[in-house]
Amino acid sequence: MSVAHVVLLPKKARPFYGRHPWVFPGAISHIEGDPEDGDEVILIAHGGQPVARGFFNSQSKLRVRLYSWKPELPIDRAFFHEKISEAVRLRDDLGLMDPDGACRLVNSEGDGLSGLTIDRFGGWLTVQLTSLGLAKRKDMIVECLLDIVRPRGIYLRTEKGVSQLEGLDLRDGPVWGEEPTGPVRIKEAGLEIFAHLTEGQKTGYYLDQRDNRQLAGRLAHGRTVLDAFCYSGGFALHAAKSGAKSVVALDQSEGALDLARKNASHNGFSIEFHKAEVFAELARRKEAGEKYGMVILDPPKFARHRGAVEDALAGYRRLQTLGIELLEPEGYLVICCCSGLIAMEQLEEIVQQVSTTLKREVQLLSRTGAAPDHPISITCRESGYLKCLIMRVLDKSR
Ligand code: SAH
Repeated sequence: MSVAHVVLLPKKARPFYGRHPWVFPGAISHIEGDPEDGDEVILIAHGGQPVARGFFNSQSKLRVRLYSWKPELPIDRAFFHEKISEAVRLRDDLGLMDPDGACRLVNSEGDGLSGLTIDRFGGWLTVQLTSLGLAKRKDMIVECLLDIVRPRGIYLRTEKGVSQLEGLDLRDGPVWGEEPTGPVRIKEAGLEIFAHLTEGQKTGYYLDQRDNRQLAGRLAHGRTVLDAFCYSGGFALHAAKSGAKSVVALDQSEGALDLARKNASHNGFSIEFHKAEVFAELARRKEAGEKYGMVILDPPKFARHRGAVEDALAGYRRLQTLGIELLEPEGYLVICCCSGLIAMEQLEEIVQQVSTTLKREVQLLSRTGAAPDHPISITCRESGYLKCLIMRVLDKSR
């Protein structure tokens, strides 16, 4: 059977010639052929020229996800083998393929594979599939991984809500080889960290913060540190490693704290962990007159859709206010935001407003995103989500 054609409306082809991978229904004129969900289709400009090739899904707002700009060639095993190999070469160049280390091996759009996220934790891989087209080719992807990475085991993780958005029927579970029986130990910049691949948040560990944790850690030397939203202890562990005077870490999840405690004791650090709701706990500590030499705020995603952006901005404003109020003069503040719908400029704008109100002067030391094993495709910049600001906060009254 020949491949169906998805024909664009007039003047809608430009982003796709520019290699944007997402085709929304509003750009489509009609379909020639009768593709099933997950089938390969060729995207055709209104004038009749083939533009790109991708997978069709009538159940998704991303009606077609594009993968190849050689519309005449099939998206087959050889295609995936080459794309995944290309992704692995980057991690190799970054020095992240140490057998005991961890890294993001494939970063969805950033590696030209929209809907495929693969993390490596030592010999184990976790795979997330958020596109129906790729989910239908799961076995092919696994075969490529066996050939390229030779893992000990591959475990499938699913993201809440995504199955519904894409009409996917996937469950967490092993897809190949050994299944990790408990937290897996990985190395990160001189630390040994346990990541829970089968139950943990994300795919077990926040690999995206790797480099930000190291810079924050360096600045924590000799300071009293408060790591709110600590999860398995990432920032807190780095602060302790670089000689912080004391480290307090907060999270509302008991499971996260268990893992964080295990990580601290395994590395020989004494970190004070508390189960707490961060907004209330920071307010309480402020009322009690507590001050810290460094405050780290790495909250979960506040804005999941456009309608939630205003509330999310208010949340970040409140957090920054509390964070700054808890700082000693010349203290360091780390603020992260993983809501893709909020731009770096908006985050900085809030910092400016809050610091003016509180009469503080803020020096931006570093404004980064995720570590480089989370590349962002220049043609799909909206897939970059993480923002991290590291700042020194001075008292203006002095
Ligand atoms: N900084 C961590 C990642 C943080 S993820 C790292 O480097 O690994 C965000 C964490 O915030 C999660 O562990 C989640 O359990 C926690 N969390 C979310 N909302 C919270 C709240 N209101 N109070 C306390 N913890 C919260």
